[in-house]
Amino acid sequence: KPVAIITIGMAGAGKSTFVQRINSYLHSQNPPSPPYILNLDPAVTHVPYEANIDIRDTVNYQEVMKQYNLGPNGGILTALNLFTTKFDQVLELVEKRADDVDYVILDTPGQIEIFTWSASGAIITDAVASSLPTVVAYVIDTPRTTAPATFMSNMLYACSILYKTKLPFILVFNKTDVQPHDFAIEWMNDFEEFQAALSTHEGTRDSEGEPTYMNSLMNSMSLVLDEFYKGLKAVGVSSVTGDGIKEFFDAVQTSRHEYEKDYLPELQRAR
Ligand code: GDP
Repeated sequence: KPVAIITIGMAGAGKSTFVQRINSYLHSQNPPSPPYILNLDPAVTHVPYEANIDIRDTVNYQEVMKQYNLGPNGGILTALNLFTTKFDQVLELVEKRADDVDYVILDTPGQIEIFTWSASGAIITDAVASSLPTVVAYVIDTPRTTAPATFMSNMLYACSILYKTKLPFILVFNKTDVQPHDFAIEWMNDFEEFQAALSTHEGTRDSEGEPTYMNSLMNSMSLVLDEFYKGLKAVGVSSVTGDGIKEFFDAVQTSRHEYEKDYLPELQRAR
């Protein structure tokens, strides 16, 4: 059975470039292992890879906006909702190809919350995850997450998605050609390191010598995050140079076992 990789990430994190990179990596394997790709972003004008199933072939998001008198986000969400009503047919197509492919890749809308916090996103995620071993790849803009406070809010966002999907989760620190991700690994492995970075950045005391609100909040948060990090894998990649892509696929294989060990029994119990 193939593994499904659901890629999500904030706009600009490099999600499309990443999907293109893992696509070309799989094509260059010996023997080549072309993935089956689903594009779920109705508003994207250009995708740098050829999708096997493209939401844009089913729904015209410009028309949806006009017809229902919606703005861009409402248009994207409604387009995704319309597509979701046909998702059983999509899954059938995927399942037909299950013997020939090793990976099914889902590229999600550029506005992250449209997928992560909508009913359609949840329906699609659950449908895929009940049919195939599934992992979430959360793509992070590493150069833009070097400030401790930004890093933490990004990790909390990841944390909330992890608890929503309950699927094996890989943090993909992208753009390591511009900014290596070792700082992130250090902060994740040792929260005292993170707290130290935080206090140099934010200052620990206010003008009266009391610990600042931000500082004590972040200190408590980092304890929560410490728990969260234990359940995750993190890899650094450059979607531009291809660095770290092999390590990403190693993490996908480990996650596949996790899916079989933890997620699948839960799913079978729920049925
Ligand atoms: P998306 O909005 O998440 O789909 O992001 P894109 O894939 O469109 O990428 C956003 C910008 O980041 C583009 O200018 C990309 O060229 C750039 N980018 C993506 N991945 C990398 C990377 O690994 N290294 C560098 N230096 N730039 C990248």
